[in-house]
Amino acid sequence: MNKLSQIGITAGALIMMASAGSCTKNLTFNDSELKIIGTDSTAGIMPLLTVDDPADTALLNSVSSDLSAEDMKSSYYDILKLRMLATVRDSTNEGVGIAAPQVGITKRLVAVQRLDKAGEPFEFYPNIRLVNLSVEKAWGWEGCLSVPGKRDTVLRSKSVVISYIDEKEMVEKRDTVEGFTAVIFQHEVDHLEGILYTERKRL
Ligand SMILES: [Zn+2]
Repeated sequence: MNKLSQIGITAGALIMMASAGSCTKNLTFNDSELKIIGTDSTAGIMPLLTVDDPADTALLNSVSSDLSAEDMKSSYYDILKLRMLATVRDSTNEGVGIAAPQVGITKRLVAVQRLDKAGEPFEFYPNIRLVNLSVEKAWGWEGCLSVPGKRDTVLRSKSVVISYIDEKEMVEKRDTVEGFTAVIFQHEVDHLEGILYTERKRL
């Protein structure tokens, strides 16, 4: 009885996922992005694009576009977030932030570890932009999951104001962030403009 009901739940969930996954006509993800994200919410870690590969570098240097409301309501979006989180929290290659282009999705979506909040949770910020950067700047060390084996100093604003879409209410929200968390936001939003921290150094 228990086994049968478990199978029933699993099959039902699979059917729901398949039907949700097949409805892609209003989504702005392209075919390659849909293939990368997939329809398996348990798929876990995604391959990271790195500067060691010329094709990856070209994509890392491209500008990302906004997510639509339909994108954010889709099962693909939920799976993308789960898999980005698994990737940035990979204990063999951990990060404090990740941007969608680093896993081959040129959409304005980043996950940032809020080191300034209790429990230091990872949070997702769709359609994020920096609407203000403090004039006061500081040099600090940075590394990047897409630039393996390197670290360098970068000059960044000490505080930033971010704007993003609250995916539950579908309204724009703003937040002021300071310290190292502000550096993470600047690093991740740069990814959405196609800029790596190694290039920021020369700007
Ligand atoms: Zn990075």
